Amino acid sequence: MGWVHRRRDLGNLIFIDLRDRAGLAQIVFNKELQPVAHARAEELRAEYVVAVTGRVVRRQKANPEISSGEIEIIARELRILNTAKTPPFVVEDEVTASEETRLRYRYLDLRRAGPARNIALRHRVALEMRKALDALGFYEIETPMLTRSSPEGARDYLVPSRVHPGQFYALPQSPQIFKQILMISGLDRYFQIVRCFRDEDLRADRQPEFTQLDLEMSFPTQDAIFGVIEQVMVRACAAAGIEIKPPFRRMEYREAIARYGSDKPDLRFGMELHDVTEHFAPARETLHLEGRVHALAAPGAAAFSRKQLDELTERAKALGARGLYAIKCGADGSVASALEKNLGAEGLKKIAAAAGAKPGDLVVAVAAKEQIPGTDAAALIAGQLRLHLAEHLKLVPKDRWEFLWITGFTLFEWSTTEKCVVSAQHPFTGIVEEDLPKLENSSDEVRLSMRSKGYDLVLNGSELGSGSIRIHQQDVQERVFRALGLTEEQLRSRFGFFLDALTYGTPPHGGIALGLDRVVALLAGEKSIREVIAFPKTAKAQDLMAEAPSQVEQPQEDELELMGAFPDLPSSFWELGRLCDKLISLLDKELLLKALPVDSDFQRAMALIIAKARDDARAATRLAKAGYGPEAGGLCRSLVEAAINSEFIAQNSDLRARQFLQSTRDHNVALAKRLTLHEHPDEVMRAVSEVNMITERSGWPKNLSDRAYAIQRPSYAYDIVFFLLSLQIHATASAAAGQLSASGPSKFEMRIGRGPEWVDTSLATVFMFLAPVMTVAFKAFDIKSEKLEALSAEFKQLYRA
Ligand code: ASP
Repeated sequence: MGWVHRRRDLGNLIFIDLRDRAGLAQIVFNKELQPVAHARAEELRAEYVVAVTGRVVRRQKANPEISSGEIEIIARELRILNTAKTPPFVVEDEVTASEETRLRYRYLDLRRAGPARNIALRHRVALEMRKALDALGFYEIETPMLTRSSPEGARDYLVPSRVHPGQFYALPQSPQIFKQILMISGLDRYFQIVRCFRDEDLRADRQPEFTQLDLEMSFPTQDAIFGVIEQVMVRACAAAGIEIKPPFRRMEYREAIARYGSDKPDLRFGMELHDVTEHFAPARETLHLEGRVHALAAPGAAAFSRKQLDELTERAKALGARGLYAIKCGADGSVASALEKNLGAEGLKKIAAAAGAKPGDLVVAVAAKEQIPGTDAAALIAGQLRLHLAEHLKLVPKDRWEFLWITGFTLFEWSTTEKCVVSAQHPFTGIVEEDLPKLENSSDEVRLSMRSKGYDLVLNGSELGSGSIRIHQQDVQERVFRALGLTEEQLRSRFGFFLDALTYGTPPHGGIALGLDRVVALLAGEKSIREVIAFPKTAKAQDLMAEAPSQVEQPQEDELELMGAFPDLPSSFWELGRLCDKLISLLDKELLLKALPVDSDFQRAMALIIAKARDDARAATRLAKAGYGPEAGGLCRSLVEAAINSEFIAQNSDLRARQFLQSTRDHNVALAKRLTLHEHPDEVMRAVSEVNMITERSGWPKNLSDRAYAIQRPSYAYDIVFFLLSLQIHATASAAAGQLSASGPSKFEMRIGRGPEWVDTSLATVFMFLAPVMTVAFKAFDIKSEKLEALSAEFKQLYRA
């Protein structure tokens, strides 16, 4: 039984290649011997599912291409179990279909020999890993998928809880905390082949969900952990027919950077880097060099053309190099380079010698300014060029398996986005004891020099995974969280349960996690991990076959107490929305989340106005993005009022702030309270006239249009804005809500739900009116923010476009 792979019709003889998971077999239908079966075989098309009975015979001429090539089956009977539509691509090993089509029809793609082979290999690798760990006394233990955030440096995928409205589970970025708790539980040796979820910025070869071989052990030494993984890898590689011999090599992080310009060096070839900074000293100024200079010798590349050198230079510059300097080493020992005028032939020879160049080699030197504190940019760029050149010069042997342990990492690294130190791995990584006192050091430089007990496993230039000996003392763990800037409250709410667990007799422990997808991809000789995952996602995190992610229906949304974004908004609307979000978070960061003193009436008035405007703006932005444009527009009216009030106050801040405050103050509030208690019309009337009196006494112009005209910004003229917003919003809202149908005047079709109407106008209104309120508030609190201007400029550009 199987699928029709190919059919050849020679008249009296029909040949079918029948395919199943194991491969192909040839079936012969002979018109003279079995006319009925032969007649039916004429109906067969590619991918039909059939059952054949017949006689297995030795072929006259064997086909060495297929494993069953020695035999064939002379069919007696044919049953067609199912037909098939013409597939969008031919199910052959060589496909021309795009990856997108392949993934959309993944079930057809997996019928191909290559993908099926990868899936089988994955099964065997995982099985061998399990067997190896079982033999070493590890238990496989499942940890929760619906849990709380585990910090591995990515964003969480969240799952809303229906039972607890407004609360969310996080899908695990890794089982890190749970496996440590299993050690506290005394389970001693844990492993799991486990799915992890990380919402990272999309990179070509990342999957939002991926599989790790995760393990942890109590009372370990680093060597013990390395030993376990080495045994596991021996068996995993054997499953792919690859023999490897432990122990694996080891290298310190610093050495890896210095010699290979990478924390995951590919040791299958040489071309090591050499620090030649000192040899460039005479030309440092003329060449405007900053930072260090690293060189490598590309074997036989002295013959590179001008064009090839230019390409290399472009590549280096794109990677951030200040410059790339090439020296051609002639067969006769001569050297040639544009650098000769700066360094002289002797200087060039020194560099060539330092780089270990031989006649016929090309020496490539790279200089770059330090970009991230504590990292040698030139070495990293040279490391990239080393990989590129090795590929280009075909220096990478495909049948070598160079495993390498990297140790000696730093505990923290500099985050260029967050502009602070962050964990280099995760916050549970152990710390070299002597460095512990540096945790409280306020200098970033000192903290960046702290050494961790972390390690990585590298294979052929790919990081397979990382792990560490952990922190097992509660006080140290707490100090690390503090050093990372967590407040007392964050520390308790996020990690309280874990810190608590650490206090009940935690054994020293450590572990590691390897990316199973990456391991299998390397063993299968595949570049992309998508090739070894049955149902992978695209680089845009989509499942094209199942069409996930997808919209949810409103009842489900309501049940989960969610209001999702309206998915079909044009991208320019999203950009507007993002600008509004940025504006609001700038306001939070610069003003609202800071404990600022409130001294003057101006500050008091603006504090009231800005706090309310912020919430209006956020609510309107959320509503608009959810496709409730008209409703968001309605909310914007109070933002317009806030902008008018702010600018009106700013014109004469002392007086008008006082007036504003008086018109809103306690008395007013008390009156409002009374109103809700007493419904008697007389009481209401009395209250209304009292309010009017307060307002009049305060001197604050009662009529908003008076204030609007006073600030002389016609576009703000309240009547206009109000009129436009109300009229247009209501007009479109009613138009959008329904129509008298053409078929008869008595029929009215009602439309409810969300749409793109008014979304952009509302978002633009949010920005246009929150920004001036912020400008005045920043002035009141003496906050200088160039970012506000920058955002406004961005907005103007977008809005014009
Ligand atoms: N949890 C870590 C990771 O997923 C691995 C480990 O430290 O064991 O990268």
